[in-house]
Amino acid sequence: MPIRVLSEEVSSAIAAGEVVERPSSIVKELIENSLDAGSTVLQVQIKGGGKSLVQVADNGSGIPRSEVKLAIERYSTSKLETIDDLHAIRTLGFRGEALASIAAVSRMVVTTRAVGEKAGTRLRVEGDRVGEIEAIGSAEGTTVEVKDLFFNVPARRRFLKSDTTERGRISRLVKRYAMAYPNRRFELSSEGRLQLQSSGNGDPIEVLAKVYSLELAQQMIPVTKASSQGITVSGFVGAPFVNRSNRREITLFVNGRWIQDVSLGSAVIQAYHSFLMVGRFPIVVISIDVPPESVDVNVHPTKAEIRFEDPGLVFSIVQRAIRATLLGQAPVQPISMEPIWSGSSSAQNFGSSEPIERTIEPASQRTLTVPILRSVGQVAATYLVAEGPDGVYLIDQHAAHERVLFEKLMAQVESQRPESQGLLQAETIELTEVEADIVQRNLSALESLGFKIEPFGAQTYRVRAVPAVVSNLSPERALRVVVEDFEEDESPLAAHIEARLAARVCKRAAIKAGQVLSVAEQRQLILDLERSASPRTCPHGRPTMVHLSVAALERQFGRRG
Ligand code: ADP
Ligand code: MG
Repeated sequence: MPIRVLSEEVSSAIAAGEVVERPSSIVKELIENSLDAGSTVLQVQIKGGGKSLVQVADNGSGIPRSEVKLAIERYSTSKLETIDDLHAIRTLGFRGEALASIAAVSRMVVTTRAVGEKAGTRLRVEGDRVGEIEAIGSAEGTTVEVKDLFFNVPARRRFLKSDTTERGRISRLVKRYAMAYPNRRFELSSEGRLQLQSSGNGDPIEVLAKVYSLELAQQMIPVTKASSQGITVSGFVGAPFVNRSNRREITLFVNGRWIQDVSLGSAVIQAYHSFLMVGRFPIVVISIDVPPESVDVNVHPTKAEIRFEDPGLVFSIVQRAIRATLLGQAPVQPISMEPIWSGSSSAQNFGSSEPIERTIEPASQRTLTVPILRSVGQVAATYLVAEGPDGVYLIDQHAAHERVLFEKLMAQVESQRPESQGLLQAETIELTEVEADIVQRNLSALESLGFKIEPFGAQTYRVRAVPAVVSNLSPERALRVVVEDFEEDESPLAAHIEARLAARVCKRAAIKAGQVLSVAEQRQLILDLERSASPRTCPHGRPTMVHLSVAALERQFGRRG
C-alpha cells in the first residue's frame, strides 16, 4: 500500500484512542474538568458499564456560550497559554484534548451555563458532525453526556470488557476521587441506581466508610503528616490486618491527580515490610503534594503517569511517612464488645447498647511487636488467653500456629534447606487435569518446600518425600492440600508462589480449633508467636490475636468514663 496522509476522521479517532481507552477514561477526564471548574458537586451517571452512557454533571464555573464550540476543538484549553506554563501545571487538565477526543468517538452533548450568563447553552456532537449552538434553560454548571462509545469505531468497541468489568473500573475510579476530595460531593449511579454518595462535608473517615465499610474505616490510620523539602504526604493507611491479595486498593494522588506509579506503589509496599505477608497488599489512600514545577505531568496522554524531578526523594519521604505511622500506630485488632448487661430488657436503662471498644488506643500504649505475654489459659479449646502489660490478649491458636509454622517453613525455603520427610516407599498419585497442571507448573516451588515429586504419566506423579510439617498426612492428602482450588495469582512471581503454597501447607498442618493444649504447649505457642516476625496476622492476613486493654476493661466496669 502506498503511504498517504490519514484523513481527518481517521487521525482524530486514532489520537482519541490514546486518551479514551474505555468508559472509565471518559469518567476520569470529565471529573478532572469538573474539579478544575471548581465544582463542589459531581454527579456521575452510567449505563451499560459506561458503554451506552457516561454523564457527568457539575455545579462549576460553566463554559461561556461564546467558547462552547471552541471547547470541543482539539488542543483547545483555557488552562494553558505558553510552553512555560507546561512546566508548572496547577490544573488537572492542560492538553485541551479530552472533549475533542471523546466527541470524536461518541454521541456527545454538552449543556452548560457559565457564571453570570442568563441562559444555558447546548451543543451536540456526533463523531465528526458538530451541531449548532442552542439556547436552553439550565442551572449554572456543566453537564457532559456521552452516549454510544465507539459507535463509529467498532474495532475499539471490541476491546471493551463486559459491562460488569467496565462498571467496576468506573466505580473504583469515582471512589478514589471521592476519597481524595472529601470536601466535594460525589455521586455515582448506574442504571439509575445510586452506587455511591459522599457528603462533601470534608470528613475523610466518612468517605472511607462509604467506600469500604464503617469497620474498615475505623481501621484506617491517619498518616502522621510529613513535610520535607516542599513535599507533603497525607492520607490514610490501613492497619496491617486489613489487607488484600492485589494492589488495587493502593490509591495515590499527586497534586490532586490520581496516578498509577509503580515506584511510589513499591514505596508504600516497602513501608509495610514485615507488617504484611508476601503477596498481601495494604489498603492505602495517600495524597502527595509537591511543587508543580518539580513534577512533569505531560508524560502520557492519560496523565496517569508522571515524572518527578527527584524520584528518590519523593519515594523516601512517602516510604518513611507511612512506616513511621505504622510503627507508631498499628493496633492489635481491638475487641468489639457489647456491654455485658446489653441484650436484656434492662438495656434501655443504660442508654445504649452500642459496641464500646472501637477506639484505637493511643500510640504510647502500643509497640510494634507483641509485648511479652504471660499465658493464662485456654478458652473453648480454641483461644489462648494471655496477659500483657496493657491488658488481655486473646489468641486464635490455629491462626497463631499457622503464622509460626509459616515463618519456619519460609525460612527453610529461603535457606534452600527444606525439612523433608522421605517416604519408605514412593507413592503414585493420580491427579485431576487441573491439579496436574498446577503441580507441573510449580514443580520447583513444591520442591523448595520439601516435596520430592516426579511426573509418572500424563496426570500421575510419584511422590518420594513430603515437607516434614505435613508428614502426618498421607502423601496424597499432603499434595492435594497444596494444589486444591489453587488459583493463579495476578503476578505469579516465584517467591509469591512459594509463600502461597507454604501458607496452604501450614493451614493444613497447624493446630486446629477445638484441640485441647497442655499448659506447656500453650506457653510454647505464645513464645513462638512472640518470636515471629509478623505475629499479628496469620499467613492469610487474618488476625492472630485481639486485644482488650485495661482502659477498656475499666470502662466496661464503670471505673472510668
Ligand atoms: P483541558 O481540560 O485539557 O483544558 P478539555 O478538552 O478537557 O481540555 O476541555 C477543554 C476546555 O473546556 C477546558 O479548558 C475548559 O475551559 C472547558 N471545560 C471543559 N469541561 C468543563 C467543565 N466541566 N466546566 C467548565 N469548563 C469546562
Ligand atoms: Mg480536561
